Amino acid sequence: MKQTPPKKTPHQPPAEGEAPRYWECPVCGYLSADPAFGGGDTKCPLCGAPSDARRMWPPERQRKLDARIRAYQADGEDEIVVILVATFLEALLEDILDRIMQTRGADASVRAAVLDGQRAVGIRIGRLFPTLTGEQFEDAAAELGFRDFPHRWRQMRAVRNAFIHDDPYEGVQETISPAISADAMQLLDQAYKLFVSINNRFVASATRAKQAPSPA
Ligand SMILES: [Zn+2]
Repeated sequence: MKQTPPKKTPHQPPAEGEAPRYWECPVCGYLSADPAFGGGDTKCPLCGAPSDARRMWPPERQRKLDARIRAYQADGEDEIVVILVATFLEALLEDILDRIMQTRGADASVRAAVLDGQRAVGIRIGRLFPTLTGEQFEDAAAELGFRDFPHRWRQMRAVRNAFIHDDPYEGVQETISPAISADAMQLLDQAYKLFVSINNRFVASATRAKQAPSPA
């Protein structure tokens, strides 16, 4: 493998080719890319919480993995890019399902048991998501402006599986092309935006509704 690019200092705004930066309201879970929100200049527009203790999202662990994926892409390691992006998106899906369950009052042990019992990504998308939100994942994605995301994500998983598992029924995939790797990078960028939209719709607003104080 070739050299990875030099590390950037953490306080710079995200450069081109870096994970996006959002900030999270610790009270209602609202996520915003607005620097004024992240810098603590404004109250939370959703719940009115004061501006302290806003956390960056995605967290450092995911930002590091994102940086490694982008380095592999720059090196032309297309198979690794697709395998890692597919894994990364599955982790994002687990995170959002966990947040939705938390919003709905499930404690950590319940959430862990549900996620442990529903490990297959297809079941999580096709059954768990609609059970928790009352909407099909495809419909929610389309409403939030990401109509082709579920289909492209499914295609990428199929390519990944055919490459890894050597499945004669799915077709054997000896290599993964730069075009598929580039498509995976687009999916990664879209996945952040879709995650934030789903979060602000099904996590932040629901939490707000539950916690809304009666008018004084
Ligand atoms: Zn808030």
